[in-house]
Amino acid sequence: MDLDVNLKASLTNIMDAKSTHHSHSPFATKPVQVGPVLIGGPHFTVIAGPCSIESHSQFLETAIAVKKAGASLLRGGIWKLRTSAKTFQGLGPEAFSMIADVLKETNMKLVSEVTDPRQIELVDDYIEMYQVGSRNMHNYALLKELGQTRKPVLIKRGFAAFIDEWIKAAEYVTLGGNENVILCERGIRTFETATRNTLDLNAVVYAKANCHFPVIVDPSHAIGVRQFVPQLALAATAAGADGIIVEVHPRPKEALSDGPQALTISDFNTMMTQIKKILAALDRPLNTLENEL
Ligand code: PEP
Ligand code: MN
Repeated sequence: MDLDVNLKASLTNIMDAKSTHHSHSPFATKPVQVGPVLIGGPHFTVIAGPCSIESHSQFLETAIAVKKAGASLLRGGIWKLRTSAKTFQGLGPEAFSMIADVLKETNMKLVSEVTDPRQIELVDDYIEMYQVGSRNMHNYALLKELGQTRKPVLIKRGFAAFIDEWIKAAEYVTLGGNENVILCERGIRTFETATRNTLDLNAVVYAKANCHFPVIVDPSHAIGVRQFVPQLALAATAAGADGIIVEVHPRPKEALSDGPQALTISDFNTMMTQIKKILAALDRPLNTLENEL
């Protein structure tokens, strides 16, 4: 009898464990609206643009090209956190009029990084989603301040952060009342030095199963080498990421930051054709501006 009861109890435990880890994951992704597109729903989202906004013509040329190829949101840095203080730090407020003009011209919305809480108010008119960079994932003052806004916040994973620390960083924003958080895996530092970072696809599938936030991938910073960026983007798409954020430059040799990892417009077009094929195989539609506007 006792044996029977014990057996029943352990079977129930096994069934419970199974339902938590498989069929009834309590962490279904809660989609986040970012301007014209919903990230984390059935549709896959492509965010693209230069590492840094460098000039009106560079930004406009890139924006037109990535929109045409199927990107539905624009990226472009205003303030850059560079390893060396002597390198290009971004145009700062000088970029504002370029942004206003390019967004109007292309009818697109911008994702861009704020590196300091004082910048949040300054860029409010120009940005649709605030990005928190890898170097600032542990900047709790910045995260708390973004929790006071109601705009979506893209939190890049710290290059040496545990998945758990990354998810907990998101809670600094949501506890302030801003539920609109998206996570971005951008490569971590490992023992390997051949590539800039190591893309952790484990983190993508793990975070998707263990929190409500949509998860996207940045293949550009993950590997740091133009040639390999499309392959990582395809892998991220296949692994079930909700989207990607990719660096594109019309003339990467002239780029003031991250030129070696920037896709040319032609590279981006080719990659988009391939991503659409992966999405078709997965029965997953692509967010496009034509559908949403
Ligand atoms: C960037 O997106 O340009 C950037 C600096 O990324 P990360 O914070 O992931 O290094
Ligand atoms: Mn960059």
